[in-house]
Amino acid sequence: MSVRVRFAPSPTGSPHVGNIRTALFNHLFAKHHGGVHILRIEDTDRTRLVPGCEEEIIESLHYVGVEWQEGLGKGGPHGPYRQSERKEAGIYQPIIDQLVESGAGYYAFDTSEELTEMREFQRINKKPTGYFGGSWRDADAASVEKARADGLPGVLRLRIPKNETIVIQDGIRGRVEIDSNTIDDPVLIKNDGMPTYHFAAMVDDHLMEITHVFRGEEWISSAPKHVTLFNALGWAAPEFVHVPAIKGKDGKKLSKRHGDTACLDFRRAGYLQESISNFIALIGWAPGGDREIMTMDEMAEAFSMRGIQPSAGVFDVDKLNWMNGSYIRAMEPKALFQMVRDYSGCDENQDYWAEKDAPTAEAMKAFTAAAASDPVLAEKAIELEQERVGTLPEFGAACALFFEDEPEYDEKMLNKWKGKEHIPGMLGDFIASVEAMETVNEESLEQMIRDWAAANDYEKIGPIVHPTRLAMTGRKVGPGLWQLMAALGKETIIKRLTRGQEMLT
Ligand code: GLU
Repeated sequence: MSVRVRFAPSPTGSPHVGNIRTALFNHLFAKHHGGVHILRIEDTDRTRLVPGCEEEIIESLHYVGVEWQEGLGKGGPHGPYRQSERKEAGIYQPIIDQLVESGAGYYAFDTSEELTEMREFQRINKKPTGYFGGSWRDADAASVEKARADGLPGVLRLRIPKNETIVIQDGIRGRVEIDSNTIDDPVLIKNDGMPTYHFAAMVDDHLMEITHVFRGEEWISSAPKHVTLFNALGWAAPEFVHVPAIKGKDGKKLSKRHGDTACLDFRRAGYLQESISNFIALIGWAPGGDREIMTMDEMAEAFSMRGIQPSAGVFDVDKLNWMNGSYIRAMEPKALFQMVRDYSGCDENQDYWAEKDAPTAEAMKAFTAAAASDPVLAEKAIELEQERVGTLPEFGAACALFFEDEPEYDEKMLNKWKGKEHIPGMLGDFIASVEAMETVNEESLEQMIRDWAAANDYEKIGPIVHPTRLAMTGRKVGPGLWQLMAALGKETIIKRLTRGQEMLT
């Protein structure tokens, strides 16, 4: 039997890290087994639909590199792939009829006041809450007929058997047994005729020949209902794989408090596709060994259900930053320059930062302008800063020193070096040397500094390099001094050294 899995989001809000991890697991599992991944939209809850959400889901999947071969936008033999359209197409009706005829489903006409009263009674008497039969489970056919004829609003419920053990096969937990008396009778079809998740998702999983259902752990308590429905229809249930939740580093369920959780915010924040997919896939999945940096193909090769951890995975943004930095460092400078340029110039990213951290937005704008007026220097700047930067927007501030007329001096460093006796003469000598240089490049600049150290009896070049870097950049740390000076070029070197003489004297 070949593997068929599906990602089945509800378009009710921005897809977040948890949804996207499920999508990634589906993608990796399908790829590992040479199977098919299907994208299905579960839009039966019409009151919760969020306009534009479906587009955001697709964009998020593209961003993290999740592929699907069948379903939304691709078509396939089991369409349509939106549940609202499936309902319209009449796909669910014969199954509803089958459930009613066999008695596995029954109509219930409780009013919302009656249901509230029932729950209240259950709560006060410390009984499990839910519909365990009410007045309709065993109502005689005549009263049901009458209620229907009177046009009372009714729902179709699933009859959960009494005094049985329901068995679920879970890919992570193995065999799970549940006492059927603890499970209430879920609504399958609402009184407006719309199917609920309990009905539509199971029916579609069957009709679409899904073999494995990866879904969030919050569904495990509903799994007995789902297994009962499969049994009632005489269908074999797929294997359920209930994926544990994601927690923040504080041990609490991941939420807005922990920072960004919407998938596309990570793109806006400047995380690369390779690192975000690598990072999210490793939340709660251990590929074995101590591998961490992995391509999508390597992850697909290694992916197995057994590697999914039974306890909640932790979202560690420091790890994401580290990972993103590794991917940035592994890039060709030319491609990275293009990426930073596109990123910094994109309005959506600009808006994101304008709201979150205005100086970052400003620095990105400045970089965009600089890259347009001097692309050669901008590319060099990216290459030299590549070692130290963790996310794309950081390049803005990191590269600023290459373009600013007068970089601001780090105050601590200024206090440390200002007034040191050797500095004015040393900087003066450098100005003279650079003016006389025929070719100003890394080698000639390094030579100049080493020669000066030797001529002035310096064993260690710290007192030379640090104040010179300060004059060149205003900073304490940065790229190698001679590479940096070579990138800035003769004119800028002389200008900044001259300013350094003033500032440090
Ligand atoms: N539509 C459900 C949700 O978004 C999908 C759960 C499932 O994968 O079965 O939560």
